Amino acid sequence: MNDKFAASCGQCRYFTATDALNGNCHRYPPVFAGDSSPRETHHWRFPMLSAHAWCGEFAPLHFDQISSSGITI
Ligand code: SF4
Repeated sequence: MNDKFAASCGQCRYFTATDALNGNCHRYPPVFAGDSSPRETHHWRFPMLSAHAWCGEFAPLHFDQISSSGITI
């Protein structure tokens, strides 16, 4: 996949936007984010990243499907 813009987090099915430029990756469960907060729910977070970032786990929002007659739908 050479078109990095088309493969960016903002175009990935695992991305959830938190604002116009950033969001969280939900590809995997939350990761340990430190225990400085007394609240347990603050200790685990989905990774925060730019909508323009990307990684090798990218998955497009929509997958083309091929019908039984070979037509892309
Ligand atoms: S491209 Fe990678 S880091 Fe970005 S949202 Fe998708 S899986 Fe997460």
